Amino acid sequence: MDETRVTVRCRDCPFATAHDRLRDARTAVDEHESTTGHDVTWEIESLDAGVSRAGADAGVCGRPECVNDDSPLVDPDPPEPES
Ligand SMILES: [Zn+2]
Repeated sequence: MDETRVTVRCRDCPFATAHDRLRDARTAVDEHESTTGHDVTWEIESLDAGVSRAGADAGVCGRPECVNDDSPLVDPDPPEPES
């Protein structure tokens, strides 16, 4: 399951918030812009579990393909269901 983190920052004041959902971030942006007239930007950071995991595993040996045995990335022979 994907996770998204959206960071909202204002160019004109120290206003900054973080949200788990794009919709929430958009609401925050709209509210701040409409109430203050400031120029608000947002940055979307994907925290996809697979990406995070690959990054963590890569720290072990430096290669993203060298991961834990139970990772789908390195399963050389996926079990196929017998019909
Ligand atoms: Zn502002």
